[in-house]
Amino acid sequence: MAQNYDVVILGGGTGGYVAAIRAAQLGLKTAIVERERLGGTCLHKGCIPSKALLRSAEVYRMANKTASEFGVEITGVTLQFNKVQARKQAIVEQLSQGVNTLMKKGKIDVYEGTGRILGPSIFSPMPGTISVEMRNGEENEMLVPTNVVIATGSKPRGMAGLTVDGKYVMNSDHALQMEALPTSLLIVGGGVIGIEWASMLCDFGVAVTVIEYGPTILPAEDADIVKEVTKQLENRGVRIVTNARLNTDSFKIENDNVYISAKLQDNEERFEAQKLLLCVGREANIHGIGIENTDIEIDNGFIQVRDSYQTKESHMYAIGDVIGGLQLAHVASHEGLCAIEHIATGKVAPLNVLQVPKCVYSFPEVASIGLTESAARENGHVLKIGKFPFKAIGKALVNGESDGFVKIIADEKTDDILGIHMVGPHVTDLIGEASLAKLLDATPWEISQAIHPHPSLNEVLVESALAVDKRAIHF
Ligand SMILES: Cc1cc2nc3c(=O)[nH]c(=O)nc-3n(C[C@H](O)[C@H](O)[C@H](O)COP(=O)(O)OP(=O)(O)OC[C@H]3O[C@@H](n4cnc5c(N)ncnc54)[C@H](O)[C@@H]3O)c2cc1C
Repeated sequence: MAQNYDVVILGGGTGGYVAAIRAAQLGLKTAIVERERLGGTCLHKGCIPSKALLRSAEVYRMANKTASEFGVEITGVTLQFNKVQARKQAIVEQLSQGVNTLMKKGKIDVYEGTGRILGPSIFSPMPGTISVEMRNGEENEMLVPTNVVIATGSKPRGMAGLTVDGKYVMNSDHALQMEALPTSLLIVGGGVIGIEWASMLCDFGVAVTVIEYGPTILPAEDADIVKEVTKQLENRGVRIVTNARLNTDSFKIENDNVYISAKLQDNEERFEAQKLLLCVGREANIHGIGIENTDIEIDNGFIQVRDSYQTKESHMYAIGDVIGGLQLAHVASHEGLCAIEHIATGKVAPLNVLQVPKCVYSFPEVASIGLTESAARENGHVLKIGKFPFKAIGKALVNGESDGFVKIIADEKTDDILGIHMVGPHVTDLIGEASLAKLLDATPWEISQAIHPHPSLNEVLVESALAVDKRAIHF
């Protein structure tokens, strides 16, 4: 039997389930369709499990290397990777339970199955009826919504000529499920995901080589920050090879090892490791969801939307990774909220990408918001820049982690903050303050006038804000 809804959300990842909660809060009769598990990539194959592994790697590094600097001698440190994985999974399961509870609390109907958009049919003269092939084998459900939100997310991108078998050639989904660590690993792709894995596996004692096609790792980050991360990773033993064009025809598996060549700037090199991890981006889940039954437009593999997140079919919205742009969990959930506000009120304040914080949870951590220095210059701004190192922050020294710095880029004439870039301890938390400052359109001086506790890492923001006008106190 067909069920009618105000909103049906296709895909229960971070974007989809947050949208469902807001829709229910606004009194809309809401259903969500999920083919795997609510929480999607972020909870099951992305943000949370990768950060849980990174945290174990950090503890291992500290026990092995830095604890003695604190006067704490630890002997016989061993890594029990099965426990590392079990801890990660327990966190995922706890949060997963939480999402299920939120659905019940919001009285949101959850359909566990694969949804597909139908064209005009006996159920509705407009496209948008969702047919759900139920996971438990029960008869298909038909959901007839007034509005649809497509939130089907993304999956790891492959590379022509390389077969991802999950054993020798992995993507991040496979890597998260590894039962044992390899002794050596080639990571193809020096973007955020590749660098997080490089940092984590290096801490776990794996010999890591990052092979990057472009001239630098983390191409979206400010050049000064990239330089610092590269230096710190290399100091810890990660080999970073840039401007490398892989020859996938040369790929071989021999004696339980993988071999692949790459053309570098001046020569060709043959790389060898136990496994290869492909981190070359993510493609939108647009296949098999019935797009062909609609007028929805696709460009470059992503669903096209307006500022309101409406597709060309104005009662069908799309949000999150499936529309491309910044493929981040907090972007997906924000877009989900915007789409629902638009459904409920006809109004929306579109997401401003310059106000979105971006983080890399490697060691060192990286966090940024707004324009890089080169983008700001290209946009014609005359700049004033304040930089402040963590080594002049007392709390960083107390914590024993004082490498890195904060860089604030402001417009010389208007005093507007154009970008804040951080590399160093806990910057993925510190960036929250920068995000608030950007939202409230604060000037560097206003940041410096907020009283910050001492000693705290947050003082780095005060000092770098003061440094914009050459007024830093402690450096
Ligand atoms: C290793 C890794 C680490 C990451 N770390 C971070 C991080 O630290 N911070 C951050 O902000 N982002 C991170 N991301 C990115 C983040 O996970 C995504 O941006 C986010 O999950 C996107 O949310 P979404 O709702 O758009 O899609 P998804 O989370 O991908 O959810 C889409 C859901 O739709 C379901 N679905 C698809 N098709 C159908 C269908 N036909 N019927 C029913 N259900 C369907 C899928 O099963 C999935 O559950 C990471 C990603 C990876 C891979």
